[in-house]
Amino acid sequence: MSFDNFGLIEPLLRAVREEGYTHPTPIQSSAIPPLLEGKDLLGCAQTGTGKTAAFALPILHRLETTGIAREGKRPIRVLVVTPTRELAAQVGESFATYGRHTRQKHTTIFGGVGQRPQTQALARGVDVLVATPGRLLDLIGQRHVHLGRVEVLVLDEADRMLDMGFIRDIRRIVAKVPAQRQTLLFSATMPSSIMNLARSIQTDPVEVRIAPETLAAETVDHLVYFVERQHKQDLLHHLLVGEEISRALVFARTKRGADRVVLHLQHANIAAEVMHSDRTQGARQKALEDFKKGRVRVLVASDIAARGLDVDDISHVINYDIPDEAETYVHRIGRTGRAGQAGRALSFCGLDERSNLRAIERLIKRQLPAAEEHPFKSAVPVRPAGSIPTTSFPSSWRKLGRGRGGGRSLGWVR
Ligand code: AMP
Repeated sequence: MSFDNFGLIEPLLRAVREEGYTHPTPIQSSAIPPLLEGKDLLGCAQTGTGKTAAFALPILHRLETTGIAREGKRPIRVLVVTPTRELAAQVGESFATYGRHTRQKHTTIFGGVGQRPQTQALARGVDVLVATPGRLLDLIGQRHVHLGRVEVLVLDEADRMLDMGFIRDIRRIVAKVPAQRQTLLFSATMPSSIMNLARSIQTDPVEVRIAPETLAAETVDHLVYFVERQHKQDLLHHLLVGEEISRALVFARTKRGADRVVLHLQHANIAAEVMHSDRTQGARQKALEDFKKGRVRVLVASDIAARGLDVDDISHVINYDIPDEAETYVHRIGRTGRAGQAGRALSFCGLDERSNLRAIERLIKRQLPAAEEHPFKSAVPVRPAGSIPTTSFPSSWRKLGRGRGGGRSLGWVR
């Protein structure tokens, strides 16, 4: 399958070529043809699967090939609603990238920043509006946004919007869009609340399901470092100095933890930035820019801040802390090994995190290989290859030595 088979117009194919995409990703192969036919789409897919191009390309094709005759200000013909500012900005950038050889204009609106530049852009007229729900409703209320001529509505990361309590806002927004429209709904998960929403706003949608979990888990090389908590900083420093790490996203469990990691790296003269929700929008954007442009090769983030983060060529995801939820591991590593590229996921596992590690292994149905030799290796034995975990170790294990039960060793058994 190649992009040429879809029948997309040349200006879009050119942009795709310039991005260096040779083959469509699975979601693009499944979604682009029905979207070009004008069908509704229910897509179970996360960021990292190529879903933005999967909807942006057919949408731009439609905009360029229909409704050319314009009188006066251009109406908003496409509305994309996203849960977060970061995702809105990324989707906006994708429209700019894929639409760079077309005449279509887009703008992005979200809260937390002044609304004036946004209302000025709206006043000039845009074909595509990408927005977060709160600011969108504000600007509708102030009559800066008119949705009466929207032809395509996209709800991106719908499950996240529901988690964030946006359901009423979403319904209010949908009510302002003409009933005669094409509706796309993307969601990483499909709980019944999403299915109900889909049923109430879509007509006979084509369903596309992409499982990035297995995808990411398969294309990424995993490695676990068993290390005592107090040696994690030194291990990170050791790896950043020694390994070929061109661009690393480091996950810490807490904001304070992330701050401490960055401070430590900066003291060791390793340029690093931190991204979490206590930082201002400006500081977060700058951190992201520095990381994207390669001015720093290490970005330390909390899970929330990193959600939807779209940075190409992340060579390593480093789990400084093993996440409490196994699914989070899969989301984190989805940031590397994008679109089939090789990526590495390094996980620092402290004694108290071994049960979390087992939960991850159960979820992805494989045992993660352990780094055999490293200077900060935990003194507590690590399971032998092929073993199954039986019990987590108390920190006093070494003192206990052999268990009371007749010299049977505590630990991992075959
Ligand atoms: P998304 O899931 O839309 O966030 O896209 C994830 C990443 O994959 C983005 O960095 C895109 O630039 C990249 N990408 C999208 N489509 C392709 C493709 N067909 N080939 C290679 N990379 C792609």
